[in-house]
Amino acid sequence: MPTAPERLALTDLGVAGCDAVLDLPGARRFHAESVRRWVFKRGARAAADMTDLPREMRRALAERYDVRRTRVALERRSRDGTIKLLLELRDGHTVETVMIPEGVRRTLCVSTQVGCGVRCAFCASGMLGLVRNLSPGEIVEQFLTVRELLAAQGEALSNMVLMGGGEPLNNFENVKTALDALNSPRGAGFGARRITVSTIGIPAKIDRLEELGQQINLAVSLHAPNEELRGRLIPGADRVPLAAVLAAAARFFARSGREVTYEYVLLRDVNDTPECARQLARLLQGARCRVNLIPLNDVRGLPFRRPTPQAVERMAALLEEKGIRTTVRRSRGRDIDAACGQLRRRHASGAALPRPDRAAP
Ligand code: SAH
Repeated sequence: MPTAPERLALTDLGVAGCDAVLDLPGARRFHAESVRRWVFKRGARAAADMTDLPREMRRALAERYDVRRTRVALERRSRDGTIKLLLELRDGHTVETVMIPEGVRRTLCVSTQVGCGVRCAFCASGMLGLVRNLSPGEIVEQFLTVRELLAAQGEALSNMVLMGGGEPLNNFENVKTALDALNSPRGAGFGARRITVSTIGIPAKIDRLEELGQQINLAVSLHAPNEELRGRLIPGADRVPLAAVLAAAARFFARSGREVTYEYVLLRDVNDTPECARQLARLLQGARCRVNLIPLNDVRGLPFRRPTPQAVERMAALLEEKGIRTTVRRSRGRDIDAACGQLRRRHASGAALPRPDRAAP
């Protein structure tokens, strides 16, 4: 029996793709404009919401397309204001999206793949490998969903980081369509300079980063100051020599004038030693960059531990001493499994799910 062609979601079409609605009977240019506005700006959930379209067109639109394709399977709120959502995709897979408040900032941490093929040794997302890429709409809907939650409490997102599950540059085309929909004045209108793409460091893709938005920011996950250690922490095929990663980051800075952030997950007694700090300082000497130290969020079943607070301080101090601007990331939402793939893992393993209530504990 032939299977019906899969229905598309309007969020998947992207800004230009919404012109597809011009195929509907009687559709004119301004109807396509209207659809774009409803989907990305006004956050319609169904064609029936699009009240300035003729009724016939709404019906035809609903026959052909869904507006969205994800639903919130779980919503958890931390005492510290962090909100974590587990979104269920149409095929039953789940991804996490997290909103982190910090002063006046409201940062959204977006996933780009189900699972991840890079398989960093300390990361929950890669434990089961890559399941599949997220579609453009599945990326955009993380933003739309959280934007609505915040609007309900009179707040708005200020920043977005592609630092959730997955390697964004391994899903380049869909990430590109999604960021264009978020970025474009005809889409959600969220400025590229407020968006950061975090990558394990894939030079050929870093060289194409402008395609994702002229003013996009780059973060590179380094994690080790030498080849041998980086090879142990990132055993996957996506790892390229450190020199090539740094050169690509330097090219990015030269083109864009935008400073690169290096992320460095601190693992106790593995990469948090004074010797590692000295090597890292030497490696980054003279580069226009900053370092973001991330104390490990423990992942059950993996053989790494959080560094001691003293080791974190020592690392930061040694780098600063060498003139490298360094920040330490505070862990947020630990009471709700907010960190890095914890909730999805719990869900996938069939373990008892946390209570789906919305109240803070
Ligand atoms: N694949 C991209 C983006 C996703 S991960 C990348 O590698 O940058 C975003 C950041 O979270 C990366 O720096 C990653 O190394 C870090 N991370 C992964 N697992 C972590 C853990 N258990 N504790 C703390 N940070 C973690």
